[in-house]
Amino acid sequence: MKTPENSPPPPCAGQHELFDSREEEDHLQARALCNGCHVFAACWDNFQAVRNAPSHLGGAPEGTWAGMLIGTAKLPSKLAPCGTESAYQRHRYNREDACEDCLQAHRDIVRQRAAAKRAEANPMDAA
Ligand SMILES: [Zn+2]
Repeated sequence: MKTPENSPPPPCAGQHELFDSREEEDHLQARALCNGCHVFAACWDNFQAVRNAPSHLGGAPEGTWAGMLIGTAKLPSKLAPCGTESAYQRHRYNREDACEDCLQAHRDIVRQRAAAKRAEANPMDAA
């Protein structure tokens, strides 16, 4: 990331693996470095500036930013593969068109939810 002129590099400099990681252990280490970082405010501003970047510009950031784990609600060690609702949501989050597998997975989920709703409303019909 960009640092103000004439200031020492931030503690995250050169620690890409730690900061890009989605592993909880790595995140906790990264966060410890963020705490007390002298460019914390600039880092946060930078995150705000790029968080909505379109995917062809690198997309939304993931990993640890300004002490926060970004880009994932949980801490999956691996990204969900295409053909799952999670991957569909990731396409949406990245503002890209979902691939056919993901679209299909999403349609299935929507259909299942609609069916569950109908069953709830009309318990007799579901039998
Ligand atoms: Zn996909």
